[in-house]
Amino acid sequence: MAEFDYVIVGAGLFGTTFAHQAKKAGKKCLVIDKRSHIGGNIYCKDVDGINVHQYGAHIFHTNDKNIWNFVNSFVEFNRYTNSPVANHEGKLYNLPFNMNTFHQLWGVISPQEAQEKIAEQIASLNITEPQNLEEQALKLVGPDIYEKLIKGYTEKQWGRKATELPAFIIKRLPVRFTFDNNYFNDKYQGIPIGGYNKLSEGLLEGIEVRLNTNFGDDVAYFKSLGDKLVYTGPLDEYYNYQFGELEYRSLRFEHKQLEMENYQGNAVVNYTESHIPYTRIIEHKHFEFGTQPHTVITYEYPATWEKGMEPYYPMNDEKNNRRFKEYTALSEGEANVLFGGRLAEYRYYDMHQVIGSALVKAKQELHAAVS
Ligand code: FAD
Ligand code: UDP
Repeated sequence: MAEFDYVIVGAGLFGTTFAHQAKKAGKKCLVIDKRSHIGGNIYCKDVDGINVHQYGAHIFHTNDKNIWNFVNSFVEFNRYTNSPVANHEGKLYNLPFNMNTFHQLWGVISPQEAQEKIAEQIASLNITEPQNLEEQALKLVGPDIYEKLIKGYTEKQWGRKATELPAFIIKRLPVRFTFDNNYFNDKYQGIPIGGYNKLSEGLLEGIEVRLNTNFGDDVAYFKSLGDKLVYTGPLDEYYNYQFGELEYRSLRFEHKQLEMENYQGNAVVNYTESHIPYTRIIEHKHFEFGTQPHTVITYEYPATWEKGMEPYYPMNDEKNNRRFKEYTALSEGEANVLFGGRLAEYRYYDMHQVIGSALVKAKQELHAAVS
């Protein structure tokens, strides 16, 4: 008999949620992570009392009451509402695209005027079924907004022309004809009071964790430690890239501590021009309404992904999705390995979706294990 019921590769939200559920069902788990900390991409570093989101700004949002209650059972969430501002040629525009943005762009006052303006702009474009991100964006908001707030940001973020990107990416952003700057439509939203690490620590309470431990260094050994494996790393890596690499987009973060109280007055400011090399500046204290005399900001630079770099965003185009399917055909045939999370499922998942996916898989798995 193996020492553990489950060996879980990855201490991100998928791995920690699964581990928690398994422990609750009486299973013995070991969680390993190659990083020096738990939490995966939601990890925050305490810099003089400010929780710095080390792997990019994370705002929790969900429509699912069960998921909201689940996370709140580990840590209380504050009332933070994400309302980023976009800077284009020194002028500021509210996001997501709403009446404030339309007023700032065109001086329109009423929703009817804004709708007419967009309708007039898109009338001659004749886009019925958008085939790519550019067409989708033009259809949603017209050329003015596309040129000022979408094209430059999108093309530097993804390192590809907007005509070569899938349409679904831009559908993440709401378009509203109300004066509402909330970036999300979900019912529940906030930031854990005291930071995301509290959530990760709560999920892993009483569970053995080994950090700085790379599964790839001794696959046979780590597999031998458990009856079953839960793998949350990149799926192509698990199969030694036998069908070729899945592509990702990476990021580089530059953190700066400043001896001033308030640098930009908002947690997230996007820079939408293509010649500015970063996409956004994050001022972390504003996620938690911090009052420290100093501040920490982070420049987020998009980067070409190469093997060995952090694989932040899956490139869900046709070519990569086809390759992913080849890997999935292998993974579905594995009797004692479960795959999950943003990397193993190769999906542009938000946190609540990763938790949701882990809860469903844990329920199926643990129910089957019990019955
Ligand atoms: P990860 O957090 O990536 O965890 C996987 C873990 O596995 C990592 O810790 C990694 O080190 C470990 N691992 C991988 N391979 C191995 C190996 N071979 N051996 C050992 N360990 C291994 N979601 C939101 O809901 N709201 C947001 O505002 C938001 N903002 C985001 C901003 C950015 C810049 C990014 C990139 C993502 C954002 N997300 C956001 C998405 C969110 O980060 C993910 O949905 C979630 O954190 C994914 O959890 P995961 O467990 O699937 O993966
Ligand atoms: N986007 C944009 N302009 C902006 C913000 C976002 O064009 O000012 C587009 C861009 O293509 C981006 C997508 O909308 O990749 C989704 O934005 P989101 O903020 O959800 O991206 P994430 O936080 O996941 O990086």
